[in-house]
Amino acid sequence: MKQPHFLLAGMLPGLLIWLSTFPPLLPWGFFGHRLINKMAVFTLPPEMIAGFKPHLEYLSDHAVDPDKRRYATHFEAVRHYIDLDHWGDNPFDSLPRDWTRALVLNTHYEIYTQIGDTLELFVAPGTTPDSDSIRLELTANGKLMQDFLIPTEVYRAFVIEHVRNAYYEEQRLISCAAWRKLPGMEGFSLDCESGIALEPFSVHGMLPYFLPQIQYQLTEAFRLHQSTRILRLSAEIGHYIADAHVPLHTTKNYNGQLSGQTGIHAFWESRLPELYAIDQYNFFVGKATYVNDIQDFYWDIVQQSHLLVDSVLRLEKQLSTVYPSDAQSCFEERLGVIVRTPCTDYAQAYHKALNGMVERRMRAAIQAIGSAWLTAWVDAGQPDLSILKNKSDAAQQNDTVAVLNQHKLPVLRVRPHEE
Ligand SMILES: [Zn+2]
Repeated sequence: MKQPHFLLAGMLPGLLIWLSTFPPLLPWGFFGHRLINKMAVFTLPPEMIAGFKPHLEYLSDHAVDPDKRRYATHFEAVRHYIDLDHWGDNPFDSLPRDWTRALVLNTHYEIYTQIGDTLELFVAPGTTPDSDSIRLELTANGKLMQDFLIPTEVYRAFVIEHVRNAYYEEQRLISCAAWRKLPGMEGFSLDCESGIALEPFSVHGMLPYFLPQIQYQLTEAFRLHQSTRILRLSAEIGHYIADAHVPLHTTKNYNGQLSGQTGIHAFWESRLPELYAIDQYNFFVGKATYVNDIQDFYWDIVQQSHLLVDSVLRLEKQLSTVYPSDAQSCFEERLGVIVRTPCTDYAQAYHKALNGMVERRMRAAIQAIGSAWLTAWVDAGQPDLSILKNKSDAAQQNDTVAVLNQHKLPVLRVRPHEE
């Protein structure tokens, strides 16, 4: 690892501004994601290793594909994180683990009238999805116009049709006829023009909801013996599982921007692994194991990550107050470009304070990825993975290019941390 070339002090201010506009280190580093996927192969049972090992380089190289297409569609970015602190002090109590339940409770609607008013429709606060009926409230300008009870199953079917199944629509439009079919609204003199469904996960992240979805896709690929899809989805689910192990992927203070610690995201997940993973970490994590409840499995990972957020931030904050300020941030050459990065001594001090946390999360990610692959394969009936034998890297490469091309939409602005 190269040593810092310059200390922060003494640099020209203009040059500093220019340099600081460079993106910091890459996420889990591309380095970390590639390493984690590669090591996960060695957790597999012999029947799977035989199929996966010839594709070690592919699984490693394509561990970063989800980040490469993050800017192509706004549906991608939110798969990489969840702002659990957006959901209150006890997010694990208030947030259903099931995707449909979460949408049932948290979707709200805007209904536009012919005279230009906007009505809002939402589930009454305090509602649980387990009750027989759900109370909906219709408001205009914040004033309650009507509330009514609707059978939970009827409302759930409405959400599945108009929200869950339309999740990847650019706008989830709902027709006036569909509104009027909702029991309780049919008699309401709704001067309706159109309406849309809005939900918070498109902004605050959906990582633990997406993981069971891609797990299902991978299982189906195994079941249908789709060798190209098996390899592509294996590489990609590895990415999202690794992201779920990073504490700062579970908080709205994802880059320390709310606590005066901007840049800590890359410090923790890129700088530290790049400095210490190869030389100091032990990646023999044992065998992959079958997962009985995949939804709980993924939520437990995110919950463990979230419990570490406080330490990740607090330890660096404490260190920054006792460490000389001109020895915290250094400049270093990376791939021919000078970038600002935490100095190696400062990184070492933070790494020591974290007391093995980064290594533990990387090890857990490796084990979890192996277990996710194994579970998909078992759930698909343990197909013979000799089907992967003749899959050339070139064919897989073409497949990936095709997928990326599908996402060639206008480049969108999304928040920067969700790698
Ligand atoms: Zn990511």
